[in-house]
Amino acid sequence: MAKITLKNLSHSYLENQNNDSDWALKNINIDWKDGGAYALLGPSGCGKTTLLNIISGLLTPTNGEVLFNDEDVTKLNPVERDIAQIFQFPVIYDTMTVYDNLAFPLKNRNLSDVEIDTKVKEIAEMLELTLTLKNRASGLTADGKQKISLGRGLARSDVNVIMFDEPLTVIDPHLKWVLRSKLKELHQKINRTMIYVTHDQTEALTFADQVVVMHEGEIVQTGTPVELFEKPKHTFVGHFIGSPGMNILPCKIQNGTAIVDGIKISTSNRINEKSNFSKTEIGIRPEFISFSQEGIPVKIKKVSNTGRYKIVDTECKSGKIKILSHSSKKIPSGSAFLSFDKKYTYAYGDSRIIE
Ligand code: ADP
Ligand code: MG
Repeated sequence: MAKITLKNLSHSYLENQNNDSDWALKNINIDWKDGGAYALLGPSGCGKTTLLNIISGLLTPTNGEVLFNDEDVTKLNPVERDIAQIFQFPVIYDTMTVYDNLAFPLKNRNLSDVEIDTKVKEIAEMLELTLTLKNRASGLTADGKQKISLGRGLARSDVNVIMFDEPLTVIDPHLKWVLRSKLKELHQKINRTMIYVTHDQTEALTFADQVVVMHEGEIVQTGTPVELFEKPKHTFVGHFIGSPGMNILPCKIQNGTAIVDGIKISTSNRINEKSNFSKTEIGIRPEFISFSQEGIPVKIKKVSNTGRYKIVDTECKSGKIKILSHSSKKIPSGSAFLSFDKKYTYAYGDSRIIE
């Protein structure tokens, strides 16, 4: 098992770098404790696979260090690092049976046949592969093959870290649910450091204790699912996480107070008057807005009832605002005023929370 540290890591696929966009990863610092469950979350192209491949040793970073248990492994290859990596698309031996595919990573590890057999059956059971153990892997569907891939990654429980790169992409939706919670269960059982890469917030938030949100090659926030929801440190986190995401509105700052459409907005964070931002905004999640007698004047544009709650689309002078309201609540029609819960209203300067 290993604690993983990344120090001042950056990576470019180009030989020469001229501007910011030439870097796939920019100044990444991470401290992951031994046995933790972590997710790397971000949209396609933000650098997740690059980061994973640097941790596993498939890629050498342009700058910076990778440490396992405080030992520099930056120059070691994947085998020397003793890790298991599960890729987005299945990597299996087509000509072998499902059983042999699962047993393969366990061979040459001084395990008795009985131990190997027990382990293979346990993994097969978990992944619902028991009935296909004798079949040749080549005959399986894409998601069947990916289950073998997962099984091969999970079979060895003595590795430093198990990494998953969007492993459920080719899995059918019903099984996605099952596997997601099985992976979580497995983590609790075997207590290995696990890193799970995904662009899907639900996958990240259900699997991980700590979620690392990435945006354009940078880490914009690391936190528990609750922290990311309640206090987004970057407007990207606000709107990427949550459904619908956080409302972001341009604001002015006067005497340390945010002003939207001429109305003073109280924020949870204090605004330092001296800071010099080229762009200032406030962020408030749809869950923390209510209709009131005064506040920001809006026009009601649309009400969608999902059964459990209503999503109300409104518009003020500065932009659109979505509100999430209990389905039993009555929604005004035409014009209304909105009030924001101060505790969850934040001011942002150049996209970052003002601190
Ligand atoms: P993600 O896994 O989050 O989708 P990647 O790590 O694959 O993101 O990619 C990050 C950036 O690096 C993207 O701009 C991508 O185009 C670029 N990139 C990824 N792999 C290569 C490669 N082998 N050669 C050149 N550029 C690459
Ligand atoms: Mg990727």
